[in-house]
Parts: sequence; structure tokens; C-alpha cells
Amino acid sequence: HDAETAADDDPQLTGVLLGITRGSVPTHSTFHNEPDTDPSLPANRAWGRRILARADASVLGTETVEAAAVADEAALNTIIDGVLEAGNAWGQKTGAERAAVLHRAALALAANRDRLIEVMASECGKTIAEGDAEVSEAIDFANYYAERAKDLDRVQGAIFVPSKLIVVTPPWNFPTAIPAGGVLAALASGAGVVIKPAAVAQRTGAIVVEALWEAGIPRELLALVNLPDRDLGAKLIAHPAVNRVILTGGYETAELFRSFRHDLPLLAETSGKNAIIVTPSADFDLAAADVVKSAFGHAGQKCSAASLVILVGSVAKSERFLGQLVDAATSIKVGPASDPVTQMGPIMMPADGKLLHALTTLGAEEQWLVEPRQLDETGKLWSPGIRTGVTPGSYFHLTEFFGPVLGVMHARNLEEAIRFQNAVDFGLTTGLHSLDADELALWVDTIEAGNLYVNRGITGAIVQRQPFGGWKRSAVGAGTKAGGPNYLLGLGSWVNEPGRN
Ligand code: GLU
Repeated sequence: HDAETAADDDPQLTGVLLGITRGSVPTHSTFHNEPDTDPSLPANRAWGRRILARADASVLGTETVEAAAVADEAALNTIIDGVLEAGNAWGQKTGAERAAVLHRAALALAANRDRLIEVMASECGKTIAEGDAEVSEAIDFANYYAERAKDLDRVQGAIFVPSKLIVVTPPWNFPTAIPAGGVLAALASGAGVVIKPAAVAQRTGAIVVEALWEAGIPRELLALVNLPDRDLGAKLIAHPAVNRVILTGGYETAELFRSFRHDLPLLAETSGKNAIIVTPSADFDLAAADVVKSAFGHAGQKCSAASLVILVGSVAKSERFLGQLVDAATSIKVGPASDPVTQMGPIMMPADGKLLHALTTLGAEEQWLVEPRQLDETGKLWSPGIRTGVTPGSYFHLTEFFGPVLGVMHARNLEEAIRFQNAVDFGLTTGLHSLDADELALWVDTIEAGNLYVNRGITGAIVQRQPFGGWKRSAVGAGTKAGGPNYLLGLGSWVNEPGRN
């Protein structure tokens, strides 16, 4: 949907985008995805244990966090002025010059893999596997956007004018990859950046930013801020010098930002209520494993997580599928992220009333297939829950919970299953498990979500190969998919090149 979405929102962009998507940019660039650490090698397991042994006591990033606290509006304005000043020189560099710095940023992020995994485990309850994958994704963003920055020099007939100031407000659940993605895209496009990490993930955000500073990105150009009160946050968002805000977070946060400034140029990836549909033609073993991974990875605290599985026709009675689903969910090892055997870590926001409700209360026609259990006094550790009998239009069907609870729905046929997914307000990720080409064709044509996954889990988008972005209430404002070929194009504006029309 990339080209269509952006073109609808910005007619000026249409020609440029279509030109690019029709092939003026080589798709086989020098870009390669960074591999994750292979946990099957004994040396890597020892490495992981060493990192996690430090996680409980980790204070990494603290000093930078303290230094980034902004006292008042005057201090915030001074920071913004500094970014605008530094941005003049940066915006005048060619894309190729910026790309060289971004490739160095990729190396700096790679050099900080251990520290990032350590602080993510300590601060956000990320298991080693989840943290490791995130560092790889951050490195990918650096190398990929570096290549896309070079593309900006090559557009025929139009000149890309970078934004002067882009604000990046990432969430806590991907505290490395998402801030890195937003910041690196903005820098690649030639903008100066103010980044405000999520409150619970400030130290991780600080280490990402420190790595980019180490790589040669000037501190004035990339300002890290921690804003102690909401008023200052509103001042930052509403500041007239801000050309774009890249937000990843809840739909309500996007609405809140808009209330600070109604004409805010927002590129927001927001909430999800994502289903995987399983048809009778599916490979049930694969489907059950993918559903469990998508529902309970990072304790379901991903916008992309599966919180519904919709079983078509006879699948609802399949002992094989349901048995595997229950077995896989109940064998997940739940514990603190600092324990190397943990597969599912804590819920970070136990105070959230909606999630607690979902973990403890059933709707009228629902039953527990796997009942979630609270495993410690803090209320953070819960075993996974699976409820059956979720009915169309019910609270569980339509509400995002952001935690380790999966609902099972039954549909008479694929058309009905698609209607169930499309009935939710959001449209972020969605999956189909089917080995039937006609079913696939129908689903692709009618399902409403930004990211479609077939016979695969629905979390874990991959830079370049599977760019990531939402539809419906999972996206607010103009923008194309992160990690995709057109993302940078929406971060600045375009003017016609004199005499080249
Ligand atoms: N990009 C992540 C994924 O594909 C999800 C990001 C989010 O939760 O916001 O799983």
C-alpha cells in the first residue's frame, strides 16, 4: 500500500513515488540484513549468560539520562535552536555523505550489542532472544536508510528538501529498534532530530543515542531529551519549528499529540488487534507454533502481536491443532528476563486495568482453554492465557490488551473469518495459515491490514524484506512503511528542479 497511501495524502509526492516504485531505484542494493546471534553455539550461550548476569544490577545509560533531563521551556527552546543550527550543515550534505555517517552508526550499534541487550533486559524485561533481534533490526535500519539516503540524490526532475527538525517519540516495547529506526530515517533524510525515549526505556534510548554520537553524529544535531512533565512534552510537539513527528505508540497517544497541535505533520504507527486465520488446508503444526510465538513473544507486548486466532470450519474441532496450541502455550518458560532460560518475561505495565481484566475475567460465552496464572506478588509475571468462545462484536474481539492473552474465534468459512478481522478498528498485522491458493487470493484481496503474513508468525517485520506500517486506526497521518523503499521520501518536501521538467 506504500505508494497509494502516500500519494493520496500528498499529491505532490505522487509522481516522485511512482517514478521510484516503478524501478528507478535498484531493489538489489548492497544492503544485507544483519544476522542475529546464533544461540545454538555454546560460546554464544556463555556470552548471553554473561550479559544477563549483569542485567539485574545494570545502571548503564544512567548518566546520559540524567544529563538529558530538560528543566523548563527555556531549556527546551535552547536545545531546539541548537538542533536547527546544526541541521543547516547536515541538510546541505549530499545523501551519499550522510550515508557514510549512517554506515558508521551501524558499526557503533553493533559494537554496543551487549550493552543494549543488558539494559533492555534490566529496564524493559526483554529476553535475550528478543533483545538480540532488536539490535540486528537497529543495525539494519542504519545500513538500509543509508542506501535510501543515496537515492535522494538521484531523483530526476525534483529536488528533495529535508525537514529542519523531526521529533521522534518511540514506545518502550522496542526500546532499541524503534527509536533507532525513527532517528536514523530522519538523519538519513537530512533533518535534525530531537528524540524523547519512552519514560520506562530511557536508559536504552540513551545507549542508542550514545552509539550514534560515537559514530560521529553531532550531539547538537541529535538531541536526547527527557521531559519530566507532560506540559513540556506538549510544548515540544506543538513547537512551530517541528516539521514532522515520528510516533510509535497507542492510538490515544496519536490523538493526544493532535490535540497539542491540530495540523501536526504526524507519521504514526499505532495500536493493533491482530488475528491469524487458520483454515482446514493449513499445516497445523506450523500454524500452532506460529500462533503461540506471535501471541506470547515479549509477553504479547507488541503492536504486531496476535491476540486472536480465527479457526475456519473443521479446524475448530481439530484435536491436533488445539492440542498443539495448548501444549506449546503451556510449555513456555515464564520468568525474569535476567534468567537465561526465560522465554516469556514480565508484563511491564501491570497497573493497566484493561489487561488485568483480560487476564482475570471471561465474557459470557467464553471459557479458558489455558487459564493464565499470576506467578509472583509483583503482578508482573503471568503465564499465557487462551480463551475460547470469543464472539463477534464482544469486548475481547475488539479491544487491544497488549499482553499475553489470546482469544479463539470460530468462523463458518474464510469469508466470515475475514469479516471478523476487518470488524476491528485497527489494521496493523494479520496472518493466514492456508495451503490453498484460492483461499490466499481471496484473503489478500479483502483483508484490511498494513502487514500481511502467510504461513509465518505475524511479528518480527524485517527491514527491506518486510517493511512495516499500519492501516485504519493502526496508522495516523501520512507516511509509508518503515524499513521500506519510500519511507524517507515522506520526511521532507519536494520542489521541481528548475529547467528539468
Ligand atoms: N516491528 C515490530 C514487529 O514487526 C512491531 C513493532 C511494535 O510493536 O510497535 O513485530
